[in-house]
Amino acid sequence: MKAIKRRQNDNKSQNKQPLKKHKYTVALAGNPNVGKSTVFNNLTGMKQHTGNWPGKTVSVASGKYKYNEREFILVDTPGTYSIMSNSEEEEIARDYICFGNPDVTVVVLDATSLEKNLNLVCQIMEITDKVIICVNLLDEAKKKGISIDFKELEERLGVPVVGVIARKKKTLIKLMDTIQKVCEKEIIPKPNKIKYYPYIEESVEKLDEKVEKMLIKNKQLSRWICLKLIDGDKKILKSIEKNLKINLLNNKEIKTELEEIKDILNFNGIKQEEVKNSMISSIIFKAENVYKDTVNIKKENTKNRKIDKILTSKIFGIPLMLGFLGLILWITIKGANYPSEWLFKIFNNLQEILVDAFEYLHVPIWLKGVVIDGIYRTLTWIIAVMLPPMAIFFPLFTLLEDLGFLPRIAFNLDKFFKKAGSSGKQALTMCMGFGCNSCGVTGCRIIDSPREKLISILTNAFVPCNGRFPFLITISTIFIGGIVASKNASIISSIAVLCIILIGIFMTILISKFLSKTILKGESSSFVLELPPYRKPQIGQVLVRSILDRTLFVLGRAIAIAVPAGLVIWLFANVYIGESSILTYIANFLNPFAQIMGLDGYILAAFILGIPANEIVLPIILMGYMGSGTLVNLESTTEIGQILIQNGWTLITAINVILFTLLHFPCTTTLLTIKKETGSIKWSIIAFLLPTICGVVLCMTTNFVWNLII
Ligand code: GDP
Repeated sequence: MKAIKRRQNDNKSQNKQPLKKHKYTVALAGNPNVGKSTVFNNLTGMKQHTGNWPGKTVSVASGKYKYNEREFILVDTPGTYSIMSNSEEEEIARDYICFGNPDVTVVVLDATSLEKNLNLVCQIMEITDKVIICVNLLDEAKKKGISIDFKELEERLGVPVVGVIARKKKTLIKLMDTIQKVCEKEIIPKPNKIKYYPYIEESVEKLDEKVEKMLIKNKQLSRWICLKLIDGDKKILKSIEKNLKINLLNNKEIKTELEEIKDILNFNGIKQEEVKNSMISSIIFKAENVYKDTVNIKKENTKNRKIDKILTSKIFGIPLMLGFLGLILWITIKGANYPSEWLFKIFNNLQEILVDAFEYLHVPIWLKGVVIDGIYRTLTWIIAVMLPPMAIFFPLFTLLEDLGFLPRIAFNLDKFFKKAGSSGKQALTMCMGFGCNSCGVTGCRIIDSPREKLISILTNAFVPCNGRFPFLITISTIFIGGIVASKNASIISSIAVLCIILIGIFMTILISKFLSKTILKGESSSFVLELPPYRKPQIGQVLVRSILDRTLFVLGRAIAIAVPAGLVIWLFANVYIGESSILTYIANFLNPFAQIMGLDGYILAAFILGIPANEIVLPIILMGYMGSGTLVNLESTTEIGQILIQNGWTLITAINVILFTLLHFPCTTTLLTIKKETGSIKWSIIAFLLPTICGVVLCMTTNFVWNLII
């Protein structure tokens, strides 16, 4: 081993007292989808969201692990392909590695696409010497007949290389060991830096001494800063100045030297863009060479490509995508009814016990009303109606995500978004929005162009989230499945929900086009969507993740909101002013407008009161209908239908409710996230108004046309 220095482990050093510093910081970096979150989770025991698609970690997460009585703080940076451009995730990753002073940076690579991954390694080695390479997915590489010469790789890069299968915890021991050794300087990495074209190297030489003089602490950054000064990237330079608290461009010596360098380059006919391009080509050249000398492929894998040809084909791509989604919805609708009924029964029995207990304890009637009719019923309602479809839908959806299917959906929709003048990546953020709009909005950070990012943020609520899915499913099951078709009810309901999703996607594209032709004018930036490899999902993990991360998270949020909301709504429905309750007053006030939309006052009031979370809209509607302000004992979703029908619901009411559920103001959590992400009240108001106006107009039109025909 030439390049890396390893300290000899003599007896003396073994007998030494343990080192004073017992806490180290380790940065994790890597391209998206290389298994970074899996490494992070398996080392820290935490549950970062993992999934087979790029762009899910958009901020740093940190966790701890212990090894050999030392504590290591692991910081997971966002997955990026490079750290040279200025997307938010690249900036976060670069700034952390550069200025966060980690004791070591572990770059996780995908053994099956090392060539592409090595570009990032070369760039990181420009910033820091303390680098460890962790080659992951060795099991997949083996299956694909790919073998890697680790010794040669280590030699060529000059930094330690460890091979792992991140899904198997025990393969991470060597990684932990190497991390400790680098932190404690038992191994000293000596990265082989890139040799750029002579004119760049000469320019660096001229600047280096002057820059180094300005740096107090981070002298090792000098070469990299010189390179950035030469390629003139203003944003990175600003970030350097801000973080290191220096004023590079105002320094006279540096300024004069830079001008001289520019003159020389001009004299030799080299333009500014060429400087950056030549730097990039040197990086790619090095990555290619290292790859060629260290990787050997015995057999070519054509299976993935064949599957992709079908799944992303012009003819079959979209129908197959709809088929899969339809199947998931059908399984959800078909399967959710039974557990829903059981839950209703269990809760009703429990309620009787509770009522008896209250009577036995002589609890005042008003308190009984608040606790049982207000809080308990709203709460158990939400659980009985929402839990079963979520517990079926989310694991299936997560399974598709884990298989690598979501990026294919994005790929199929890419051209539509580009035509609408927005980013192809918007399709990915839209898929995130299916889980939760607030997550979808945060996910928009993966979009580089501020204009396209804003379009994606403003339209994210056009796809139904967790909170709206169960409601949409319930209403479709009752009215479209139950009334329109009594025979194949679940199939018809699934098709209906699928149509709702399609309307959501259509509206997203339409409004994106509208925005990019009006207030957010511009052309779509070129971006090639990456198709990650298919991976066998880990069923156990999928279940745990979808149940813990999604189902229980959403349910927890719904419950947290349902308790105070149940109380407030109960008060609204039970506090009388004169003849009517407050809720009835609100409903009566809204009724004339609601009627034009094909709804009624109670429904519109429920949407407005349900702004903290869409999950509570249905309980409010029902409570409004029960004149007494309490929910009657219900045994199943069919009975919900009966109450709605008794209160004047028809097929068109259901259709309008469905449309308004899809298209109305985002919930408060999403609105707050939009405010945080855009930093602007104006855009948050637009995000509120856009879907609401669309929903109102659409409902009015549907209602008008329906009345005209029928
Ligand atoms: P990240 O985007 O880099 O954070 O990648 P993730 O940790 O989310 O992993 C992406 C996918 O690769 C997930 O489906 C993981 O379960 C899977 N994965 C991660 N490490 C391994 C591994 O060593 N072997 C295999 N077969 N799959 C892995």
